[in-house]
Amino acid sequence: MKITFDPDISADIRPSIEEVIKESITAPCSCGSDEIYVSLQANNNIDVKCFDCGTSFFELEIEVEEEVTEE
Ligand SMILES: [Zn+2]
Repeated sequence: MKITFDPDISADIRPSIEEVIKESITAPCSCGSDEIYVSLQANNNIDVKCFDCGTSFFELEIEVEEEVTEE
């Protein structure tokens, strides 16, 4: 499986995103492509989709570098 990242996604967080993708996507897209595109959306959401046909596999929220304590 080949994973292509949006250039705006920080290199620091790419390995952890890649791990999630490998755990979550166990089969290629229905179009037969096994190439994944990780796209950065608004509000620190990323959309994990098929590189070829654009079908979305899942979305997830990424954590920004600033440390925020959630209550
Ligand atoms: Zn596809």
